[in-house]
Formats: sequence, structure tokens, C-alpha cells
Amino acid sequence: MSLTEKIIKTIAKTSGAYGIIEPDDKIMVAVSGGKDSYGLLYLLNELKKRLPFNIEIIALHVAQGQPGVDPTPLIEWLEQSGIPHEIAREDTYSVVQRNLTEGGTPCAICSRLRRGIIYTRAEKLGCNKVALGHHREDTLATLMMNLFYSGKLQAMPPKYTTDDGRFEVIRPMIEVPEPDLIALRDEQQFPIVPCALCSGQEDHKRRYVNELLDAVQDTHPTLRNVMLGALKHVNPSHLLDLTVERKK
Ligand code: SF4
Repeated sequence: MSLTEKIIKTIAKTSGAYGIIEPDDKIMVAVSGGKDSYGLLYLLNELKKRLPFNIEIIALHVAQGQPGVDPTPLIEWLEQSGIPHEIAREDTYSVVQRNLTEGGTPCAICSRLRRGIIYTRAEKLGCNKVALGHHREDTLATLMMNLFYSGKLQAMPPKYTTDDGRFEVIRPMIEVPEPDLIALRDEQQFPIVPCALCSGQEDHKRRYVNELLDAVQDTHPTLRNVMLGALKHVNPSHLLDLTVERKK
């Protein structure tokens, strides 16, 4: 089985379980230039060819005006892919610079701005869903960060409706192992366009939990799959949250 087939199988299984991709969906995929969003767009487009029903996919790249970042290779890749796409040229860089506090990271402001642009375009284009490129490692890192730093047992939903009810946000790759996406990037030679603001560096808490999981995984190779399985086998009666319905 090819790598593409292998990952698509995982996505199709997740999609079936959580109703992620449904007939007549019009799905916006924002492509940042990183491996995850390239992978998501490529894989959804491959999945589309194999589905027994119709869906539409529209790619969007937000060119954020960051100095030293040239999105040309990405735009050329989009053109060659044959996937319908739009480029939104918005200078979020200047807004981030103006609002960045000392010691603060650009990602929180930057991603909020970008989300606003993506939602506005998605609405204009009549999309009912917006797809995000989070994968298994993102989900588990979020789970650990919430556990360690926020005192919450919470990972990421595979699908949710935005607060204003405009879209469903979907995470088709939530069960896809990150190493598969790294291999796909290399196999498909996605022209990566790195972020110049933060150089794609994870924030230190996320990096810490990822390193911790990597270290445990050295002696427990199936760790992340076991953890992912745990997210599907929750027993609220053995936790202490009085607001959660208990199994009889
Ligand atoms: S990685 Fe770069 S582009 Fe992405 S949110 Fe952070 S600052 Fe913005």
C-alpha cells in the first residue's frame, strides 16, 4: 500500500466515525506553506477522487506580508495541482508587530488575524466547512499541555461548529501520525515556505511535552497510539468532574 493510500485510509476511518466529510461539503483548506497544510490539501484532494459522493475543495493561501517570505513556490504548486485556490494578500505582519508585547510570541495574534481572514473568505466562497491540519501529535501535545498547565482533561475535537454558527471546523488528520506527514512531505516534495516570524518554532511548553512523549516512546514504541486509544475510552465515573454524566 502506498503512503498516500495508508494515510487516506486513516482519514476515511476518522471521517466516517465523526462525520467529518459529508456529501456536498464545500471545504476550505488554508495552506500556510508548512508540511501539515500541504499534506491536508493533497490528501483531501486524493480522497475526493475516491469518494462515492461529491465534495468541493478550495485552497486558500494568506500571503501575510512577512519580510523575507516568498510564497511564489507555494503559489506555483497550487497552480500545478489543479485544485481551485485563492490567494489573500493581507499585511498581518504589520499588525502583529504593532501589537506584540515584550516577551510575547507572534503566533497568538497572527493566528487570530489569519483565522478572521480565512473565515471571511470561506463565507464569501460559500464554504460550509473549514479544514485544519492538526495531526495525532498535535492532539496528544494539547492533551498533555492541558493536563500539565491548565488543569483540564481536554484534547482537540475532530469537528465543531464555530461560535457564530457559520462553519463546521474539521480536523480530518487528527489520527494521522506526524511521521507519516513528514514522509509524505519528502515523497511529494512539497515546496515548504517557512514562517519568518517565529521560524516555525514551537512554544516551549509544547516542545517540552513533545520531547517528554518522544522520550517515553523510546521505550514504549506504541505510546502515542495507546494514548489516542485512551481518548476514545473515557470513563467519567472514575474522574472527579461532577458536571459530566456518569456511566451507570
Ligand atoms: S508560525 Fe508564523 S505564520 Fe504561523 S501563526 Fe506563528 S507567526 Fe503566524
